[in-house]
Amino acid sequence: MADHYATLKDYRHTLIPDCECSMQMRHDSLESLTANANSTATTTRSWLLPIRVQYRAMGCWREPSIEIQHPEQSSRRQYFEPGSNGERYLELGQHTGISPQGIKLTARDCRFTISGAALGFECPDLSAGPLLIVAPHPDDAELAAFGLYSSLPEQSWILTLTAGESLGSLRKQYLRGLDDKKSVAVHRKGAIRSWDAAHVASLGGVPANQCLMLGYADGTLSTLLEDPKGLFTPYFRRYNVSALPSDTWGGKAQGESNIVDDIRSVLQRVQPATIVMTDPVLDPHRDHRAAALLTWQAIQSASHSPDQLLLYANHFHGTNLFPYGPPDAISALPPPSSKQHEANLPNAFLGAGYYSHPLSQSRCVKS
Ligand SMILES: [Zn+2]
Repeated sequence: MADHYATLKDYRHTLIPDCECSMQMRHDSLESLTANANSTATTTRSWLLPIRVQYRAMGCWREPSIEIQHPEQSSRRQYFEPGSNGERYLELGQHTGISPQGIKLTARDCRFTISGAALGFECPDLSAGPLLIVAPHPDDAELAAFGLYSSLPEQSWILTLTAGESLGSLRKQYLRGLDDKKSVAVHRKGAIRSWDAAHVASLGGVPANQCLMLGYADGTLSTLLEDPKGLFTPYFRRYNVSALPSDTWGGKAQGESNIVDDIRSVLQRVQPATIVMTDPVLDPHRDHRAAALLTWQAIQSASHSPDQLLLYANHFHGTNLFPYGPPDAISALPPPSSKQHEANLPNAFLGAGYYSHPLSQSRCVKS
């Protein structure tokens, strides 16, 4: 049970900030604290504050939270798991420096203390060139980066590796009784999800020709890591506006290609300055971990190298509940993974940076 996660555990990630800022606390009231920092920095950074959270009575079943009020920004709230008692990270957002007026932190259903200096991470320049988001399945790009790609739609590309067609049983169809044969239901699910992958991004303004689906079989990415030659379903590529080199399948129901070659061809076409991809350390889903490593293989053999990698996690070790709170809540880092998942990973995946993409209040969906 190396990945067992418990609410009493500390979240401790290996982080290397480019700036640290000591905070002083002043009690406004029993659970309200005002934190000030001594910083003259002018660079915009994403800030994390290590804190020790201890739930209070109601917080054993209701998610405890801390409201973060910055004088120049709208108030935001971060939630923690019910019964949390340990070190966590508080997401302070992007700032050029912590305001001299301070940030007011107000706890609900918990008490907390600051357990270390605020950690500042210089924000990457995402406007410098194309942004390629690699999604193992339809919806992964949206869960991880809709806010990001809809901020920069003209320069964003989304590459989805599988149509996510796997279906545990006929009972799990989108509409009960829609199909009575599992193979038909699986195909229908893949068709629906490939439509999603092609069209949901347009809600964020991404041009249709910048969404690409490879259509490899859902659940097989870790097998493709051993041998990148595998089967894809051409039907799942039907919404691609741009052609892929491996599109020539001779009209058969399944084509065969090399997924690393396919990813590399997209890299060379898009020439991304930034690649946003799954984090093989924090995200334990087999397809997600494999997607990162397959993309890394493609990067290694491509004639183009991205300037920076941003890693995301949509699944988490030991809990399905993260991120906590309503959809408009903010979240910081998920529970950490066991170290065994880091064995034999390229250094690019062991980076210790952090980036938080800010959304305006009007773009946050209120629950
Ligand atoms: Zn996924």
